[in-house]
Amino acid sequence: MADRDGLIWLDGEMVPWREAKTHVLTHTLHYGLGCFEGVRAYNTANGPAIFRLKEHTDRLFRSAHILNMKMPFNKDEINEAQRAAVRENNLDEAYLRPMAFLGSEGMGLRADNLKVHVMVAAWSWPSYMSPEAKEQGIKVRTSSYTRHHVNITMCKAKANGNYINSMLALNEAISGGAEEALLLDNEGYVAEGSGENIFIVRDGVLHTPELTSCLEGITRATIIDFARELGLEVKERRITRDEVYIAEEAFFTGTAAEVLPIRELDGRQIGEGKRGPVTEKLQSMYFDAVKGKLADHQAWLTHVKS
Ligand code: PMP
Repeated sequence: MADRDGLIWLDGEMVPWREAKTHVLTHTLHYGLGCFEGVRAYNTANGPAIFRLKEHTDRLFRSAHILNMKMPFNKDEINEAQRAAVRENNLDEAYLRPMAFLGSEGMGLRADNLKVHVMVAAWSWPSYMSPEAKEQGIKVRTSSYTRHHVNITMCKAKANGNYINSMLALNEAISGGAEEALLLDNEGYVAEGSGENIFIVRDGVLHTPELTSCLEGITRATIIDFARELGLEVKERRITRDEVYIAEEAFFTGTAAEVLPIRELDGRQIGEGKRGPVTEKLQSMYFDAVKGKLADHQAWLTHVKS
């Protein structure tokens, strides 16, 4: 990824892609304390637009606050950096990666007098999963790795170091023949995927875990809004893994994964073993919303060209 044309916004300036470098003694590289976002821009009838930019930037600043990192830019500047990253790389659709990290001014866990750096990259990353997966659903395994505990790492922060747990779980799932992992919290209740929130449908009602150990997903919030617009009841509550086995439908949500049906968990078919009707409806609303086709949700789009 490092060797390509284009521009990356780094600490307030656009720099050539190949020159957007940091020193090996960068603090975040050593200890993992940093925070980031995963954001997407989609092509709409009026050109590329970033989906729910405000919510992503708000979460980035909340993550920084939780980690006690003082952001050297304000939210407007970070929003403008994201618009510029898409625009100046001439992208119609893009995945955006804003990140705040600690510099190489010093080492050690006290991390005092370190500079907070911020970068924003944007590149073309069409789909996290195959088109078939979006229709047919994916195979998931319950992870042997427990999701973070609320008093071990900070679950409301999208912190770099939190993703060690996600990568261990995803790696285990893939090497066991599945496509994604389902992580349980420290009490054994369903938390989330390695980079997605989870929903199930039971008796026509949508259920999703409470926001304790899972991330406050922006796609999750979007889907809850859609469900309510459709008159579907939504319950945020504790869910057990065997409830997922007997659900009528199950799906993951996330900026990268979008709305992704789950057809199997731990070798048990879920529902009909393919995308169910509720998932399909919510998924199509999601794709319409991100592409600017929902009149009521234009406010979720930030166009990159003014
Ligand atoms: N959980 C985790 C652990 C994630 O990394 C993500 C992706 N940011 C999500 C859930 C979904 O969040 P969002 O819908 O905001 O992308």
